[in-house]
Amino acid sequence: MRYRRPRGVNDILPDEVGQWQRAETAFRRLCKRYRYREIRTPVFEQTGLFTRTVGEESDIVRKEMYTFEDKGGHSLTLRAEGTAPTVRAFIENNLQGQDRERLVKLYYIAPIFRYDRPQAGRYRQHHQAGVEAIGSSNPAVDAEVIDLALAFYQEMGLEDVQLRLNSVGCPKCTPAYVETLKAALGAHVEELCPDCQRRYERNPLRILDCKQPACRRITEQVPKLLDMLCDECREHFEGLVAALDLLGIEYVLDPHIVRGLDYYTKTAFEFVCKGLGAQDSIGGGGRYDGLVEQCGGEPTPGVGFGIGLERVLLARKALGLEEGEPAREGVLVAALNDEAWAEAIKLTSELRDAGIIADLDYRRRSLRSQLRFANSEGFAATVILGEDELAKGVVVVRNMQTGEQQQVARTDAVEYLRNF
Ligand SMILES: [Zn+2]
Ligand SMILES: [Zn+2]
Repeated sequence: MRYRRPRGVNDILPDEVGQWQRAETAFRRLCKRYRYREIRTPVFEQTGLFTRTVGEESDIVRKEMYTFEDKGGHSLTLRAEGTAPTVRAFIENNLQGQDRERLVKLYYIAPIFRYDRPQAGRYRQHHQAGVEAIGSSNPAVDAEVIDLALAFYQEMGLEDVQLRLNSVGCPKCTPAYVETLKAALGAHVEELCPDCQRRYERNPLRILDCKQPACRRITEQVPKLLDMLCDECREHFEGLVAALDLLGIEYVLDPHIVRGLDYYTKTAFEFVCKGLGAQDSIGGGGRYDGLVEQCGGEPTPGVGFGIGLERVLLARKALGLEEGEPAREGVLVAALNDEAWAEAIKLTSELRDAGIIADLDYRRRSLRSQLRFANSEGFAATVILGEDELAKGVVVVRNMQTGEQQQVARTDAVEYLRNF
């Protein structure tokens, strides 16, 4: 019997894992600097958490969720996005405590599961790095999360990332805009793509982010939500723009950014990496002032983003940002006969106990083969132990970079290699 990995998912192999670890480390370091703390939520949640918050009409809920019934008959869904689980945990564990004004800043690095048609940069299991700042309606917090995302792209060498910004309003102003939008689209419904024709009745805002050329031609002409915001939403948007200016962050107003999820209010944004073609969106987010209440908590505002790590790594590759050869490290202990082999096992153990990366060639091959092995495996040094060395109480240390060899007393070997 031969098994293959399911369609649309990847193995991350040892040769590739270095770039993942670098990205994750960079993200963690930045989050710490901005004082976001890590949260790890389960890989599955009650299905209702997603269907009721993301929206019955969203692509995610309509066709992309991995939903299953467990043996107890409960409907569960693999993490379909990062925000709702974080908000659920925020409420359930009372992370805000008694201080209802307290801003709780959280981050996660987690797999996301979507039954999507596999294509470049889109997988059925992908990984997101995200933050959620819950507890403040101050637009400077929106600017802070945007600033953090941009700092991460910078850290990853993606210099040319554009912030595209919009406001999707709130329950006070969005409904009136939706009516205006429907009136403006009314004469053109037949010209819209089949998806948008369906959206016209059920979720007309989503028509704005359809990328079909026919739909774009029509939506370029319609009134903009930014021009119809209520006073509160307009003030918030102006506050955000002012904070971005203070931080020196450039942005492009884009009325097509509505995000695919129902819970967004006010701020909506996306990050676009130029030079990537059609799959140029490498992250996005927005404000969700109604979500905590919708999930059963006290009314509490929030804002956050999610960044697809696969997209970021693909962008690095597309832009020719080489990962570079990993630095040589560690010690191969090469034994030349049976007596030396016993000594080699002891020395390897001593090195490891001293915190030094060390290994043996268990195939017990010739010195020549072992040196070739040490070279291809990227060891910094090979310790050679043969009959002569044992007799003299020494080891020979070979620098794998330069080929230089140095004789060292056996008793000093660990100390010598510690400083190698
Ligand atoms: Zn509003
Ligand atoms: Zn369309």
